[in-house]
Amino acid sequence: MSVRKDKDWGNWKWQLQNKIRNKESLEAYIVLSNDEISAIDQADSLFELGITPYYASLMDPRNTECPIRLQAIPKLIELQTNERDQQDPLAEEKYMPVKGVTHRYPDRALWYLSHNCAVYCRFCTRKRKVSKPLGTPNRNEWDSALDYFRKTEAIREIILSGGDPLSLSEDHLEWILSELKRIPHINQIRIHSRHPVTLPMRITDTLCEIFNKYFPIYMVTHFNHPKECTTESEQAILRLVKQGAVSVMNQSVLLKGINDSPEILQNLNYKLISMGVKPYYLHQCDETFGVSHFRVPIQKGKEIYQNLRGKQSGITVPLYVADLTGGGGKVPLLPEYEVETKEFTNIYRNYKGDYYEISNGI
Ligand code: SF4
Repeated sequence: MSVRKDKDWGNWKWQLQNKIRNKESLEAYIVLSNDEISAIDQADSLFELGITPYYASLMDPRNTECPIRLQAIPKLIELQTNERDQQDPLAEEKYMPVKGVTHRYPDRALWYLSHNCAVYCRFCTRKRKVSKPLGTPNRNEWDSALDYFRKTEAIREIILSGGDPLSLSEDHLEWILSELKRIPHINQIRIHSRHPVTLPMRITDTLCEIFNKYFPIYMVTHFNHPKECTTESEQAILRLVKQGAVSVMNQSVLLKGINDSPEILQNLNYKLISMGVKPYYLHQCDETFGVSHFRVPIQKGKEIYQNLRGKQSGITVPLYVADLTGGGGKVPLLPEYEVETKEFTNIYRNYKGDYYEISNGI
């Protein structure tokens, strides 16, 4: 199946205006399986279908196990409930001093600016509210959030999140950045966006000029599979880094059937580094409703991680973490390296499985 690309294909607004929201539009790109067809019909009320034509064009038209398809098209298994599934596993709504702001850790706050995303990822932690326009914070609520940041001096970092904060217009983004930069105790601004992956044409020259003006900006994007590292994404990252002077990092989610192998993650991490993106976190999949089929057992995750650390250059290795259900924050999920602690020495096992004894400093 070959996709005929519209003359406006490279325009991010065209991509959003032509977002795929039903199976009929999706069938221009791929042959849907019976399972996908039934799941699209039944899952829409729980979590919308939404895919940019660009992201759909990366899908294998016939392979239902294609890693791009699995991330964006529901399967019937998504409708099964698991007893541990939660609406808000990270308790983000519980620690919300003003609408649209989660302030859980002392020095940083998460600010949800939009409920829209270019693609609605089937494993999304925030599917309780993402894709639902009702409840998206409005301009008055942005003012309340800014007032809260101004008067809370313990906050050193604001993380712009969503949905996708880059769904906002340039004017709105510029206004938000300029207001944040005026607050003396805010040390850094971070943006969480999947647009470099799902809508790379959103990274326009104008947007990069704005980022450059408010240097330094840190961006955490979200590539999960090497197939997502396309020429378009590579060029978007290049614009962010060179024109926007943005420091770009990546967080992946460890997803069963998508990237749960050392080879795939190695390939992804090397590609990211070559594009100018530092792999930052590899997340254990949260306990959100309808995502348990994506979850990789932690023991397997540790084995995969052990195959990365030491064998791959350190700068290509993200930290494997779990964000604790209930809002406990992130903890590293590390393989056991310390084998024995003696009075004056400790014994460690290295990445090859060899044992070494070193002084414990006492
Ligand atoms: S881009 Fe992020 S917030 Fe949006 S659906 Fe995907 S995982 Fe959720």
